[in-house]
Amino acid sequence: MATAFGSYTGKILKINLAEKTCEEYPFSDKEREMFLGGKILAAKIIYDNIKHKIDAYDDENIIVVSTGPLNGTAAPSSSRFNISAISPLTGLLSSSNCGGNFGMSLKRAGYDALVITGKAAEKTLLKITEDKVDFLSADGLWGLKTGETQEKIGGKCGKIVIGPAGENLVRYACIVSEERAAGRGGLGAVMGSKNLKAVTAEGALLPKVKNRERLKTLNYKWAKLLQNHPLTGAQLPKLGTAGLLTTMQMKHILATKNFSAGQYDEFDKISGEHMSEKFLIKNKGCLTCPIKCARVVNIHGKNVKGPEVEIMGLMGANILNNDLEKIMLWNYEMDEYGMDTISTSGCFAFAMELNEKGLWDNGLEFGKIDRVSEVIKEIAFRSSEVGDVMAEGTKRMSERFGGKDFCISSKGMELSAYEPRAAVGQGLGYAVSNRGGCHLNAGYLVVLEGLGLSINPYTHSGKATLSMTFQDLMEAVSAGGSCLFTTYAFFPSFLLTKPNSLMTRIVNKILPYLGGALYLAGKLPWILPVNLPPIFPHPVVINAATGMKLNFGKMLRVGERGYNLERLVNQRMGVKASDDALPKRLTDTLQDPKNPKSRVPLETMKKRYYASRSWDKEGHPTKRLIKRLGIVYDMEGTE
Ligand code: SF4
Repeated sequence: MATAFGSYTGKILKINLAEKTCEEYPFSDKEREMFLGGKILAAKIIYDNIKHKIDAYDDENIIVVSTGPLNGTAAPSSSRFNISAISPLTGLLSSSNCGGNFGMSLKRAGYDALVITGKAAEKTLLKITEDKVDFLSADGLWGLKTGETQEKIGGKCGKIVIGPAGENLVRYACIVSEERAAGRGGLGAVMGSKNLKAVTAEGALLPKVKNRERLKTLNYKWAKLLQNHPLTGAQLPKLGTAGLLTTMQMKHILATKNFSAGQYDEFDKISGEHMSEKFLIKNKGCLTCPIKCARVVNIHGKNVKGPEVEIMGLMGANILNNDLEKIMLWNYEMDEYGMDTISTSGCFAFAMELNEKGLWDNGLEFGKIDRVSEVIKEIAFRSSEVGDVMAEGTKRMSERFGGKDFCISSKGMELSAYEPRAAVGQGLGYAVSNRGGCHLNAGYLVVLEGLGLSINPYTHSGKATLSMTFQDLMEAVSAGGSCLFTTYAFFPSFLLTKPNSLMTRIVNKILPYLGGALYLAGKLPWILPVNLPPIFPHPVVINAATGMKLNFGKMLRVGERGYNLERLVNQRMGVKASDDALPKRLTDTLQDPKNPKSRVPLETMKKRYYASRSWDKEGHPTKRLIKRLGIVYDMEGTE
């Protein structure tokens, strides 16, 4: 279906694996304006096609691989693409963002998105080029790790692949492109359940942008903005996300011993600074990214992607391990087997505590790391009883062995490394997040509560609207095709470089109340018809690329629409208020016995959050809200 907008190819390809057929999936320009691309476009397609509760491994599950309008435009940090499906880990919609080369290649092949349906009868490699789709045998690839698979496929095409974990239906298996992963939610297992080992895309169709000269100027200014910002121009290039670990320790938000504490005595041995001094070979970035936050380290004589802060915290402090070299190795092994580093790490900490408490005799102990590599492999291949159990994720482990109060997951998804009792807004986000215990889909409020700014981390005041606003903002940024780290520039530099200045202190005080103002702006976008290119260039750049007429208020509205659409899909999958939960360790046990506020006051914040979102008591979007967002209400038969 042709499009009048620049930068889009105007085509979405629907592939039926069972019948080996392809057709164009209709999508109008009105829908492009409403749903933009990436995860929101995917949510719209899944909302329109999966109308009742299904299991992630049912043939009816759909995998949507989608790009945003900025993919392929050379805008800074714009090579990110999205993969969505119903998740085998949570049973809900999961969207995972990836930085490899596939998104760009898909657009060059002539498609904005893929809608993959059905289940292949044989192990399959899908090859997409400008004029055809080949359904090839993947017999020779099955069993290979993610790196080996990509190497064997060869060529210059963009690739997404799964490893043994996806083939063996590990519920948190990921999908890999180059060395980047669509990590969360077990989407690799959905590919595995469809007998789909890999998809490649290749072509030379560069989508035309609407205003090339203006886009070039805006991109140049945006890259400068990112390069001059203390987070995106200094900390991330120098230390990567790993640089956050020391701040997490200082602010009591470094998950330690399965989230029983927020500080680890030996944090300096697993810090980003230590990695930079001892192991860093160079930094590296996704295509078109001036930030280059990735680390390159050497494992067994091979230069590979280094660990992010989440696994450094979770396979370090959270299992009482101070050996950074081992964390680097496990990170590499998990990537190669194709499993999510965050969920795998969460399973280790939980298994260790179950063993410590005598609930499951599995041989794993806090601080004892000799068997970790072995068990990672056993999980990937489900080749031992311990590995097979851990491949199911912490929620199912707790259903079998108990320990629900310290099972650190939400909606079945393991939390990342930020201990929320010293950042309660992050705690709220973890609980209400559409994809489960994810720091990013949560709204990433920990950045405001300690990692970057310093708003009071223990108060619930203002956290509900702030969470909602940042969730919506990040939703729209992701749908546009940008990396979420580009939103860091949203915070003026002085807030980070002069933390004790009067101005910074004032901003920290008033920021919790800004959520209310932004909430109003989201509800009535016409009151905010402005653009803020010095801190939030995304809508202006999308306009130059596409010819749309977005502004800050409209971007917020797009994000709100996306977040609610995802919630509607989850509602069909059965989500309700009791699923927006955290384990009692985080809500009922104080992190610091002397600080009565060092727990997540979830129920108080949740009520306010639902009210801010215009959700009912069960956490379901109201009909009125859905109408206001322009979504067709189609929930008959859903409780
Ligand atoms: S900031 Fe990091 S994750 Fe984001 S696009 Fe750049 S290199 Fe990739």
